Amino acid sequence: MKTLPESLPAREGDNLDDANKCMKCGFCMYNCPIYKVDHIESHVARGRNVLIRQANEKTIPTDAEYAERLSYCLLCGRCAAICPAKVQSPDINVAARTDVVNRKGLSLPKRVIYRGILKNRKLMANLLGAAAIVPGVSTKDGKPLRHMADFTSVFTKGLSLPKLSKPFLSSLLPAKTSPPQGVKIKGQVAIFPGCAFEFFFADIGEGIAQVLAKAGYEVVYIKDLTCCGLAVRSAGDLKTAQQMAKHNIQKLAKFDRIITGCATCGSALKDYGKWFGDKDPFKKQAQEFSAKVSDFSEFLAKEGIKSKAAEPVVVTYHDPCHMKWHQGISSQPRELLRSIEGVKFVEMEGADDCCGLGGAFTLAHRDISLAIQDKKMQNIKNTGAQIVVTSCPGCLIQLKDGVRRNKLPVKVMHISELMRGTEDK
Ligand code: SF4
Ligand code: SF4
Repeated sequence: MKTLPESLPAREGDNLDDANKCMKCGFCMYNCPIYKVDHIESHVARGRNVLIRQANEKTIPTDAEYAERLSYCLLCGRCAAICPAKVQSPDINVAARTDVVNRKGLSLPKRVIYRGILKNRKLMANLLGAAAIVPGVSTKDGKPLRHMADFTSVFTKGLSLPKLSKPFLSSLLPAKTSPPQGVKIKGQVAIFPGCAFEFFFADIGEGIAQVLAKAGYEVVYIKDLTCCGLAVRSAGDLKTAQQMAKHNIQKLAKFDRIITGCATCGSALKDYGKWFGDKDPFKKQAQEFSAKVSDFSEFLAKEGIKSKAAEPVVVTYHDPCHMKWHQGISSQPRELLRSIEGVKFVEMEGADDCCGLGGAFTLAHRDISLAIQDKKMQNIKNTGAQIVVTSCPGCLIQLKDGVRRNKLPVKVMHISELMRGTEDK
């Protein structure tokens, strides 16, 4: 039976033969957000593992239909986390996608986006900067923009993207943010903002640095980092993802602690060590880098910082899949929220159910994404919370879109926003 060549997917366990480890118990079916909506066996880990095994054995072709079936997965990681046989089905899926890309190549638009734009922060900034002057993109009228401009709505299928930040984070955040006067300096951290905080939520990116500074850390911000590479990696373009990882690792090599407020970036950065094969000389450096990465909540929960809300407020929390299922972080953000004076924390049913975004999934399979989003909105509504907090800009986009679509009187906030708007005791 064929295993992937050395140059292909390099994660430990990224081996198409791992699909054979599935014992077909079906436990994943009742936990998969997609299967819960569409009940199609080939869209859940058990069924897809059979497909991947058949493709690996060459009894089915690795054609466009096969690639399409592989795309019916949010890569949320829930099936892997609960699988009694510890089958890493999302990783096997990414390995299979990589196999397809290596055999068939990428489409021209994907080549341009992954290898041209996402990899090149300056080019991305210039393109988005140009988009920001298109009428309607940067208006401050308070209405949700239906995408970066009306003409782009066809590409986002109704998903309301946030406004582009004015200015971008690179013009907002200094190279160093020092703790306020009177706060004892505990050390230095570097932040990894990621594309979303860089271009769409720059104010939140700035707030993340300020909260870390309030906790006693000098916060270093390096401007020429690139995308974390997860979207590219998930689409099967491992080579480009490795180039992005190398760039970021080299830029941040001298720091002992790297903090990110983005759950998706955090899961990628912590996984960089697994993006390189055992024989790759860069693997050790990547593993050492990954060990230095912490999520914002994970890092701050240990700090015991005290804060209070501007006014009493009822808050609930949505677990990003990249936090709970990929990084095993769920208690820390709750601890932080419960510690804020004036916050009444209420747990929502299905708090760790996916919001339905899944990166490009929401664009490829909008109907399923919206069905998953609707369930999340109902659960939020049932709590009676005024604010739903989360830890990932991707979830922020999806939850804000859901709140708008469902006309819920609920604010959607990143956890740092609530902490930034508080005062030290
Ligand atoms: S839970 Fe694991 S072993 Fe069971 S069917 Fe799903 S992937 Fe296979
Ligand atoms: S990663 Fe998530 S969406 Fe994909 S099969 Fe597993 S549970 Fe379903």
